[in-house]
Amino acid sequence: MKYLPLGDTEDIAASCHFLEIDGTGLVFDVGTDPRREGSASLPKFDWVRDRAHSYVDHAVVTHAHHDHMGAVPVLVEEFPHAMVHMTEATKKLLEFLLPASARLQQKKREQGETEHEPLFTEDDLEFLSHVYLTHDLGADFDLTGMAGNTEVTGRLYSAGHILGSAGVELAFEENGEARRLFYTSDTNMQAQSIIPGGEYPASTDILMLETTLGADEEAEQTSRPEEVEKFRTTLRRVIERGGTALIPVFVMGRAQEMLAMLGRLKREGDIPVDTPIYTAGSMLGVADLYDKTRETTPRLDPDFRVFDVEQERVPYSAEAKKDILDGPGIMVVSSGMMFEPTLSNILARRIVENERDAVLIVGHAVEGTPAHRLQQAAAEGPGAPVRLADGQVQPVHCTVERFRFSGHSHRRDLLQIVERMDPDTVVLVHGEPEAQAWMQAAIEDRHPETEVHRPRWGETLEL
Ligand SMILES: [Zn+2]
Ligand SMILES: [Zn+2]
Repeated sequence: MKYLPLGDTEDIAASCHFLEIDGTGLVFDVGTDPRREGSASLPKFDWVRDRAHSYVDHAVVTHAHHDHMGAVPVLVEEFPHAMVHMTEATKKLLEFLLPASARLQQKKREQGETEHEPLFTEDDLEFLSHVYLTHDLGADFDLTGMAGNTEVTGRLYSAGHILGSAGVELAFEENGEARRLFYTSDTNMQAQSIIPGGEYPASTDILMLETTLGADEEAEQTSRPEEVEKFRTTLRRVIERGGTALIPVFVMGRAQEMLAMLGRLKREGDIPVDTPIYTAGSMLGVADLYDKTRETTPRLDPDFRVFDVEQERVPYSAEAKKDILDGPGIMVVSSGMMFEPTLSNILARRIVENERDAVLIVGHAVEGTPAHRLQQAAAEGPGAPVRLADGQVQPVHCTVERFRFSGHSHRRDLLQIVERMDPDTVVLVHGEPEAQAWMQAAIEDRHPETEVHRPRWGETLEL
């Protein structure tokens, strides 16, 4: 079997893993690289023909984050016979998020914010639904390619990361021997507020393992119940003093999990039931899909609806925004990294100078982003300057605190996956070099008999 990563392997980048199994060409995930623009953000689809001398018969999309699915329309254009497999929930999310992405790309182009043409338009997406094939968790489906000499069977397992997320198992024969490969995708083995922890097969031969938190020592030392306690205490303090708590989030997944947690804190009496919670934009559409699939996808509580948590819309006008920022109140808005000119950035600039208010960062703030700059300024002490928007430096007086509510497993949990599935071969993906290096050393130390690969972008591996 041949393996060729089509997305940059030096970082989180675009997930897109090509596999050739005796004549069958497959890709796991078809993402875009969030750090790049235009065609540079795409996986290197031409390498499938040029370097692997092959073709894509089937793609499996593990979940609806753009770094895993943002290039699906382009793949289908490149390989018109390819079928794209996923869970039903992921399909619903794609049919909502890809048109939104097309509109956003179009708008950026028209407003001169980018020189790149959109990767696809809403029209391009019209008949994509015909190449989507959905599967239940645990059900076998055929992935044998047109020129495949051996049968390849796929099966999806809950990955515990976001709504619809799944890991993929392949079963096939090679040199007369039955072999299995498992790709974890983005994984969370512990329960969040809505989505329960992932459930993977008992064993495998080849494990493709994500490594997002592989370099994060702090993550393995914090427990979710402790983080919830810390969050509860801080939020209560801010609301009691009449302040506004701004929670910058990713629209897809993190927003819904945070709303579920806020609902719980209200029910348990930590914050007054009438404290307004403001949300905005496409978050509402995603929440609706979470609610519609609550009985057909893995849930901690199938009765819980995101819309049971009362929400108000952030008003458009600056004057009305001023009113709601008088507090007390909670704003759950995107983007998680507080990029300009998203709502979380606009609102943060209005509150950072107020001692009464707070910015609660609930995920990992990537270096170089406004969220990271704010975190660093706050760590320097009251009044330290921060630049949240070009040409505007402000002193930070509000509370800034960080909480670990990641949708990813920390590295001890990742090691436990290896321990339990006991593969002969591990392929490390989806992590910074430092994270992969730690994981490699830790696996080699515990399982000297296991072969560990850190694939390089553009290099074919024989597995
Ligand atoms: Zn993800
Ligand atoms: Zn990812």
